[in-house]
Amino acid sequence: MQLIQNSPASRIMPMWFWLILILLPTSVVCAGNPGVAPILKVTRLAENVYALVGPITNRDPENLGNNANFGVIVTEEGVVLVDPGATYKGALMIHEAIRSITDKPVKLVINTGGQDHRWLGNGYFKSLGAHIIASEKAVADQQARLTDQLIRLGGLVGEIGLQGTQPVYADETFTDRKLLDVGHTRIEIHHAGHAHTLGDSFVWLPANEIVFTGDIVYVDRLLGVGSQSAHRSWISAFEAMAARKPEIVVAGHGNPAGLEKAKQDTYRYLVFLREAVQALIDDGHGMEDVGRIDQSRFEYLDNYDTLSVRNAQRVYEELEWE
Ligand SMILES: [Zn+2]
Repeated sequence: MQLIQNSPASRIMPMWFWLILILLPTSVVCAGNPGVAPILKVTRLAENVYALVGPITNRDPENLGNNANFGVIVTEEGVVLVDPGATYKGALMIHEAIRSITDKPVKLVINTGGQDHRWLGNGYFKSLGAHIIASEKAVADQQARLTDQLIRLGGLVGEIGLQGTQPVYADETFTDRKLLDVGHTRIEIHHAGHAHTLGDSFVWLPANEIVFTGDIVYVDRLLGVGSQSAHRSWISAFEAMAARKPEIVVAGHGNPAGLEKAKQDTYRYLVFLREAVQALIDDGHGMEDVGRIDQSRFEYLDNYDTLSVRNAQRVYEELEWE
């Protein structure tokens, strides 16, 4: 697999570039000026297929909640965008990245789930005339968690970062899958069960063997099993994605990778955690003992320290109810 970096911030830049960057006033190095220090790394995956790779840090006023990946598929009929970003301004940041690829309008926006960066940028693209598609369950999840998400986002990106953000829901929903032919491009959207969030879907491009997984896959950083997650069906949603045998997996978070890396960083972790917590329960231990589980084989992943014990607690809670 060869990934072609389009971003001026990619590792191949000469030292003078970094020196200029360091000497610039910080106000220039912000989301409003992505040509200088882009938050989103534009990565060409195939002819007309791109990933916008966001940072794997937390949401902040600079990334505007776009600490995630997005997909850009350029067709004869316009651009199909996989996920619109977390805020109105975050959507504008994504649109600026798209403009560095093509002048074509954004025709279709897919929401791969219910987490903020999968849908709260809808309003911006809707105002440009885009049609929005999501699974029924993703929309239900977005509606149920709207207030919580806005409060949490506001705390992280700030009031200014949140300006203009309005909840706009999909124009069209589907239950399990939606098959689209946009121009000559076949695009499949599959909801294969509750994963990181209730309505997570993956977007499969059969001609390119590329999958945009939304939050079903995390690489390079530890995934989060939150109160909105269901780890058991997350494992089967991953299996449904992996059954396509993708050449390139664009995870919801982390760099585009092969299927093996996706399996290592997401699937094996979920299976390991499920088995380890079950063994703890079988030994008669309470939830206060989840810290005893040795998760260190996944210590190489970012966010390990903050999330590993919390993930085990959540899996414990879920297993108690199975
Ligand atoms: Zn996410």
